[in-house]
Order: sequence, then structure tokens, then C-alpha cells
Amino acid sequence: MLEKPVSVKFEEGISYFKNIFEDMQDMIVMFEPDTLRYIYFNRAAIRGLGYGREEVVQLTLRQLCPELPEEEFRRRIGSLDKGKNSPLLFETVKRRKDGTDFPVELLIYLVKPIENTDICLGIVHGKSYRSQKTLASPQNGLGPVAVDGAEAGEQDVFAQLDAKEAQQLINLLVMHSGESMLITDSLGNILGVNQAFTMVTGYTAAEVVGKNSSILRSGRHNHSFYRAMWEGINASGHWQGEIWNRRKSGELYLEWITINTFYTTDKSERRHVGLFSDITRKKTSEELVWQQANFDMLTGLPNRHMFQSRLELEIKKSRQDGSSIALLFLDIDNFKEVNDSLGHNFGDLLLVEAAKRIQNCVTEPDAVARISSDEFAVIIPAFEDVAKIDRVIHAVMDRISEPFILGEEKSFISVSVGVSIYPEDATTAETLLKNAGQAMHAAKSQGRNSHCYFTAAMQNTATMKRKMVNELRVALIEEQFRVFYQPIVTLNNGALHKAEALIRWQHPVRGLINPAEFIPIAEEVGVVTAIGDWVFHEVARQVAGWRAAYYAKFQISINVSPVQFRHYGANFEAWFQYLNELKLPGQSLVVEITEGLLLDVHASVTSQLLAFRDAGIRVSLDDFGTGYSALSYLKKFDIDYLKIDQTFVRDLEHDANDMALCEAIIVMAHKLGLKVIAEGIETEQQRRLLAEVGCDYGQGYLFSAPVAAREFESRLKATYPDS
Ligand code: C2E
Ligand code: MG
Ligand code: MG
Repeated sequence: MLEKPVSVKFEEGISYFKNIFEDMQDMIVMFEPDTLRYIYFNRAAIRGLGYGREEVVQLTLRQLCPELPEEEFRRRIGSLDKGKNSPLLFETVKRRKDGTDFPVELLIYLVKPIENTDICLGIVHGKSYRSQKTLASPQNGLGPVAVDGAEAGEQDVFAQLDAKEAQQLINLLVMHSGESMLITDSLGNILGVNQAFTMVTGYTAAEVVGKNSSILRSGRHNHSFYRAMWEGINASGHWQGEIWNRRKSGELYLEWITINTFYTTDKSERRHVGLFSDITRKKTSEELVWQQANFDMLTGLPNRHMFQSRLELEIKKSRQDGSSIALLFLDIDNFKEVNDSLGHNFGDLLLVEAAKRIQNCVTEPDAVARISSDEFAVIIPAFEDVAKIDRVIHAVMDRISEPFILGEEKSFISVSVGVSIYPEDATTAETLLKNAGQAMHAAKSQGRNSHCYFTAAMQNTATMKRKMVNELRVALIEEQFRVFYQPIVTLNNGALHKAEALIRWQHPVRGLINPAEFIPIAEEVGVVTAIGDWVFHEVARQVAGWRAAYYAKFQISINVSPVQFRHYGANFEAWFQYLNELKLPGQSLVVEITEGLLLDVHASVTSQLLAFRDAGIRVSLDDFGTGYSALSYLKKFDIDYLKIDQTFVRDLEHDANDMALCEAIIVMAHKLGLKVIAEGIETEQQRRLLAEVGCDYGQGYLFSAPVAAREFESRLKATYPDS
């Protein structure tokens, strides 16, 4: 069954065997069965277990195989037949010097007494092919010539073996090693092979002995490859590298081979021993790993990682030749909405198509990458003039604005583009990308479908923003927020029944800050949800108190950001629960939302608004007229109040159009069963005009600016003195 290593004869030199041990990828160890002390590690064991050569003789089996029960182990070794080929097999763990463990299969043979002491030979399987590139080479002095004598601290086991013993040892190794072995004469004629060779190549010893090793050739390497290999072998006696060979079945495989040379004892002839393993799988998976590490699987474009290296490379070039690089940061507008409404499959299709279109807008050496879900980047190296950048931007924007056919659907999308330039805007890949990203955000806030070049001012805004985000989190913990209240009065008689809660930030250094300055930032990073929860609890407590003390039907409205309705937004259930705890009817609160929210395609928005209604909480549409006023939504979403935006109220006295608009809004709202609140009333004339056309409620400086809770309470007290 076993292939006899026919030509391996001890006369051919002990140092040669030692070289084979050393070159083997299996870990090979030897220890004394009495003391369980190690006497030899081959190079793979040294490296794999993390010890220095001189440390080996101080080690015992106990340290390296902590899980082996020692008594049992000794007993079984005692039962081993010396020199027989049946080894003990243990499945255990090996412990490295650094304390880490790894599972192994340990084959143990009892070899031969040396000065009345047996030697145990252990072959440690379980390590797969590791990086071979660092293995011995003649250059690092570890080649076959250098290992003849014992190294420092090492007992030279080999020197103590006689011919028969060495032969026995090598036979065991050759047979049981997982490594394929092939021995040839100086012309490459095969003298012997082992079983692992047969496993890999499909050829038995009988089929190849006597033939030239060239029968394994794959045809994948040219003459100069083999010439270089043989030159290496002839010059140093040693060669290692990757070779594509052919199995008996015709299939190609890749092997990592180490070839060593030795002379027969009479020095008349040379032999070559090749130790190899099949690394085809490893190679293909390595290539796959490389592919996956550098390319985006969906679009086939380079990914962020690859993009980063490419940009760094371009920067290096530019640093040398003084050229400039433009970096475009592209973000598909509203991609999330498209993805959510059309489904992820179509979302993917859209990205693939968008990637193609973007790529079609550039030519070498410009490079496109996908850097995150809906973000792409274009590197334009060594551009001559800015016009080139503009050309690319416009080409991309035009191409993206063409309809996307996704299944039955025709989708229209747009893209926002930010640009940063090396070296003006940044000198590292990281900041260049960050700045382009900022410019892209600036383009978005200009109303999407536009582009923006990075400026220093953007940098400042970004820094301030970051600072504010941190401060907002602190503000929540340190309770720096305040709720101010602004009366909402019945327009025709000025009676006070309602208020709007408006948040303020009592900043420790900057004083009172208005929401316009911090709410948009809080929305961007999501902190607005926590802030909104705080406002809700504060206002619920307040309205409960005021209802009890002054007016049982008092009502306060709170502003709720669209972000609070999204994924990971507010937990409105907890709000309802809190109202229950306070025994507060839903009617005591109004939720102010903006028109944009109603356009949100999420089904969850609808259900959340319905949940408010079920809890008795009223819904008010804030800033009406500034967004997309889709009238049909007013009924669909069960809106109770419309708030006419202050921009319509401001010029009421002078602008007939605004007057007409306000009147139309009021009439329409009333037809739909909604009450109307006019915002920003500052003059008596504005109040009168609005009251004349039937507006129900008003809010504005004419009645009162938003004031702190205590001040508002004194007004309530004055309005309801009897309670
Ligand atoms: P809004 O909900 O439309 O609130 C009305 C804004 O108009 C308030 O600004 C108010 O002080 C101001 N205002 C009231 N009467 C007059 C007037 O006669 N003339 C003028 N020119 N302005 C008047 P404020 O308090 O600065 O709030 C600004 C915005 O911040 C609010 O607009 C609201 O959208 C948002 N906001 C306020 N509090 C919160 C909150 O707790 N959560 C969230 N998410 N947003 C809030
Ligand atoms: Mg409001
Ligand atoms: Mg408003």
C-alpha cells in the first residue's frame, strides 16, 4: 500500500536527511519517552510553536501538550513496538510559547535507543499550508550547506544515529508526512516518490520511476522559467517557488516546491529531492480573497480599500511631478427612498446601472470606485484645467438624470457631487476624501442634484458642527435644555386655550440658543430623538400640572422631527404609556409635523400617525405652504390643525396674493374639517385680516413671544384667576 521511497538510502548523507526534516512543512519533533523532554524541533515546529532553537531542550511534552493525560500517555508509549510502523495517534492541542492553543493530530513513533534511551518521533499534522515565502533560502544561510552540525543549544540527534536508524527514521517521515516527495537524478529522471506524491499527482511510483520529471509539466511555464530554475539549483543546490504541473488526469495544479541537492556518498552523482504541496485551492481562494478585498461584488468597481490605495498612489505621483488631482465624491440623491419603495433588488440594479453610467463618463487614467452603498468616487489625476472637472461632473449628472428602467418601473434619480483638489484642499487621501464628502453635503443642502467645490469655510462649519454634536450630548445629560411656551389664542377674542412648546438651549458659555441653530444638526446625527423624548416628558408633566391648576382643557403642542418617525426613531408606545401613568388624555397634546413627513414613503409613518390618533393625540401640520402641499394627504392622514406659515402672514397687509392664499387655505381647511392656526402674527392689522377670513387661532409676537414656563404660568393664572 505504501510507496517505498526507493532511492532514499542513508549512505547518501545524514546532513541530507536533516535537510529534509528541516524543509518539511509538517512540524517534526523528537523527545525522550522517559523524561518527556524534547530533543529536536524542525524549522516548521520552531516557527509554529514560537520557540527559539536553544529553548527546545528545556521543554517538556507537558508544556506543549497540556491536554494529554501523562500517565495514559506513558503507558501507551510503553506499549509501542520499537521500529514498527504503527504509530500512536493523538488528537490534542498544542500550546504555543505565547500561550495560544491550536488543534493537532499527533503521530508518535518510537524510533531507537540512543545510549539506552528511546527516541519518540512526533509528526504534528493539522497545520495547513502556511506562507512559504519566508522559508529557508540559500540567501538567509539556512540552506542545505549550513545545517550540517548541531546548532547552539541543540543536541545533535542525527549525529547519534547509525545508518539503519537513520534509514528507519527517514522512511517513517517520508511515508507519513503529508508532503509529497520526489527524488530525481541530476537530469531530472525520477528515482522515487512517496504516497503523498501519488495522492496529489495521481501517478503511482511504478508509473513514474524511471521517467523524467518533465512528464508533470503543465505547459504553463516557458523555457526560460525552467532554465532559471535549473540555474538556481545548479548554483546553490536549492530552489523554491510555485510551479504549475499536470496531474495524471490532465488537470493542472499549482504546487509550492522546495528542491534540495545532495551527493551520493562517493560524490560521483547528484540527487535532487523535491518536497511539495498542492496549493491550487489556496491560490484560487487567495485570488478570491484579493478580489473580495479590493472590488465591490455588486458593481465590479474598485471598492473603498482599493480606491484608497489608488488615491494614495496618485498623491505620491503628484507630489513628485507637481500635478493636481481632483476627487469627486458622488452620492445618489434619495437612494434610501428608492431602495425602500422599489425593493432591494431594484435598488441593486439601479446601483449597477449607475456605476456603469458613471464609468462611461470617464476615461483612463481617471478612476471610478464605489466607496459605500450609494456613494461613488472619481479620481481625476493630473488634470490640466478645471474645465475638465466640470465636464466630468456635468456628464455624470446628465447621465444619472436619464430615466432608469427597473423592471416595469421608470425611475428618475439625481446625484449630488462634492469636489476636493489636491494639494489645495488637502494633502492626504483621507482628508481629501473627507473634504470632498463635506462639499457633497453642501451640494445636498443646496437642494440636491447639484455640485459643490470644497472651501475652507466648509471646513470651519464642519468643525463647529462636530463640536456642537458633542455639546448636544452633554446638554442632554446635564439638563441644559429648556422648554419655552408661546400662547396660541382664539383669533376673534384673544382667549388663551393652547400653547406651543419651543425648545431652547441654555448653553453654559453661549447663553440661550434658538432651535434653528441646533435642531438641524441634532437631526443629522439622530440626537433629536433623545431631545424629542425629553421635550415630550417635560411638556406632558407641564400640561398635566396646568390642566389641574388652571384650565382642564388646556392643550400644548410639541414639534416632532421627521427623524423621530424613522427607523431607530422615537418609541411612541412609551409616550402613550407615560400619558397613562399621568392619567392624561391624549387631547392634552398636539403633535406638530411638517409636510415633508407625509411624503415619506414609509408605511410606518402612516401607522405611527394613526397610533397618535388612536391615543387621542391631535396632529397639526406645521409651516403649511412651504413644502409640497399635497392636499390629498390632509384627509388621508387625519390632520386636525393646519398652521399657516409665517411667510404668508408677514406681508398680509401689503400683498394681495398672500391675502388670497391665506383665505384659500382657510376655506379649504374648513371644508376638510381642519382648524387653522396662523403663525407669526405681529400686528393688530394682521390679526384683524385673518380673523375676517375666518382663521380660527393665531400665534405670534402680537400676543406674546415664547416665554419660560414660570412666566407663562403667570399669564395662565391671570387668565383663569378662579381656579
Ligand atoms: P415652528 O414650529 O414653526 O415654531 C414657530 C417659530 O416661530 C418659533 O421659532 C417661534 O419663536 C417663532 N415665532 C413665533 N411668533 C413669531 C412672530 O410673531 N414673528 C416671528 N418672526 N417669529 C415668531 P423658534 O422657537 O426659534 O423655533 C424654530 C423652529 O424650531 C420651530 O419652528 C420648530 O420647527 C423647531 N423646534 C422648536 N422646538 C422644537 C422641538 O422641541 N423639537 C423639534 N424637533 N423642533 C423644534
Ligand atoms: Mg411648530
Ligand atoms: Mg411653524
